[in-house]
Amino acid sequence: MKFVSVNLRVISSQNFEQLKYQTLKHFWGFENFRDAQEEIINAVISGQDALALLPTGGGKSLCYQLPALILEGTCLVVSPLLALIKDQVFQMKNLGIEAEYLSSELDDFDAEVIFNRCKDGLTKLLYVSPERLTNQLFLKNLEEIQVSFLAVDEAHCISEWGQDFRPSYQNIKKFRPFIGKIPCLALTATATPKVLQEIQLKLDLKNAFVFQKSFRRSNLNIISDKISDKYERVLNLLKYNRSSGIIYVRTRKEAEELTHFLHRNQIKNVDFFHAGIPVKEKNAKQNNWVKSQNQVLISTNAFGMGIDKENVRFVLHFSPAASIENYYQEIGRAGRDGAESYAFLLWNEQELKNFDQILINQIPSKAEFQKIVTYLYSTFQIAENDLPENVFQLHIQKVQNFTKASLAKIRNVLNFLHHQEIIYYNSQNSLSSLELKVSPEQIELLPKKDAYFIELLLRNLTGIATHKVLFSEKSFSTKIGSDPQLVKERLLELQKSGHLNYIDGAQSSVRFLQHRDQRAIEGKYWNLFAQIQKNKIQKWEEMKFFVKDTDFCKMKMILSYFGEKNAKNCGHCSVCQQQKESVFGRDISADILNVLKTAPANVEEISIKLNYFSKENILENLIHLLDSGKVKMLNFRTYAFNDDYKAL
Ligand code: ADP
Repeated sequence: MKFVSVNLRVISSQNFEQLKYQTLKHFWGFENFRDAQEEIINAVISGQDALALLPTGGGKSLCYQLPALILEGTCLVVSPLLALIKDQVFQMKNLGIEAEYLSSELDDFDAEVIFNRCKDGLTKLLYVSPERLTNQLFLKNLEEIQVSFLAVDEAHCISEWGQDFRPSYQNIKKFRPFIGKIPCLALTATATPKVLQEIQLKLDLKNAFVFQKSFRRSNLNIISDKISDKYERVLNLLKYNRSSGIIYVRTRKEAEELTHFLHRNQIKNVDFFHAGIPVKEKNAKQNNWVKSQNQVLISTNAFGMGIDKENVRFVLHFSPAASIENYYQEIGRAGRDGAESYAFLLWNEQELKNFDQILINQIPSKAEFQKIVTYLYSTFQIAENDLPENVFQLHIQKVQNFTKASLAKIRNVLNFLHHQEIIYYNSQNSLSSLELKVSPEQIELLPKKDAYFIELLLRNLTGIATHKVLFSEKSFSTKIGSDPQLVKERLLELQKSGHLNYIDGAQSSVRFLQHRDQRAIEGKYWNLFAQIQKNKIQKWEEMKFFVKDTDFCKMKMILSYFGEKNAKNCGHCSVCQQQKESVFGRDISADILNVLKTAPANVEEISIKLNYFSKENILENLIHLLDSGKVKMLNFRTYAFNDDYKAL
């Protein structure tokens, strides 16, 4: 079927029903919708604002992708991470759906091609980051694009109370009037009642349909395990494992060490993954795992967003996550196919105390916060109201020498500034960049040694005379038969003398995104920073309670955290299991006798009083009690305590 989008006004409701199912079958190959999907889709198509809350793996994407195909025009999708966007667009294209994304990676020509396809109504989904919504060129082009509706993915990023807070999500409210009265569908997997309200308010959702599917995942067994020797525990678990899984650890070092330990102990189907690995290698590891039936990936929480693997049989937390939201999101990657799966959570008291300390040590005082920020501005000579364009190399060690604050505090502040989009802080290994600052005439006047080296650069790195070029010292040094370290030193010397701009990709770097505004830093940003730290502590306290508690069903605790009242026990988490055992350990017979001592009763009445036992269990025990003479029958239904028994 060649897909033709339709004007719904001209098709009957019966045809529409057919079209929905045909589209589902044709592009996705599915026969039926899952739970709330169909209702959400109907709401979008009928032109209403909607808020869809589905757990991770619940099938949120389809809720906007399918109406996007059916409705006339282009659906605009706002999503927080470029990696997620690329992933989605790639998947869409694989399904034969016209989807595109806009990002600063694309040059003007590529962007124009995309805009034109949208204007012609060919592109059905256009993914953008929230920053794009204030871009003038984008807004100008939008005037000629028929937008079918606005989908806001990961809508909880709008909430200041969550850890994923993205200030640029606030742009959406101001942006909405630009596209006229177009409905908005907000989607999220992690929303507490407070966050839900915030989403509706800040996205200006009017009379929104709210679809909240229970967050319960019946196929997940949460097993909390208090244990001191975690290495041994993981080894024992993996010895008999024949399925795919993820082990979440806290640090990169831990990921590598645990992997090596398991390799040494003949567990070969494990690999590690973290943000410090070069992109190519990371992709290879990820692809290998996604395709496998029995690979286990040991990873920091850098792994998982946008991962769509169905047959993950377990997620093991080597240490508790920082919050219940994070934890539930992470374990939600197990059992997406609906088959029985496990979430193991390893912990011990000592470790919880260590994390308390780690958390506290990350939080700078107001004076330290200001010192760190002021250092950034002064070391790069940025005056009030200035906004330089360059990328600066950042030596964390120097920040530490100057501020005397711990590395953890410095990183915390830098990450905060990054999330607030005040700076772009790059702490990951990336390609280096180079731009020449001297003209060909000036080169001739330089000392011979410098001129020769610059000639080499010009010959091997095309473009550096006119713009910034990304390169690797390693491949450049191989080309010229030198050593990468020597190349770096030469580049730094030339940088010092102002002949070029060089950013070493192996070091952190920062770019400023906003004009320096000291008052805002000391006032509103410090307040926000302090609030976020408080939230972090509170979320960690909640997580600790969740980890340590042995009275409440684990799934029920999570559900009540997400605002689901009156949830039933799951019956198979570690707490439910233990309670069952203690029920079994209880003397059923003694309990039955106690009931009958107060008054004769039938099986139904007894099982209401002893509702922690199953009816079959009660009946079985009654038969034994009858046999032994402790209980007698008054009529064919009623049992009574046998007073004569003592006399027998
Ligand atoms: P989420 O974004 O909510 O985490 P996804 O949209 O990635 O979830 O969907 C999770 C998985 O469920 C995907 O593999 C998707 O193909 C599958 N899925 C979605 N809807 C259906 C459906 N109606 N029938 C069968 N599988 C579905």
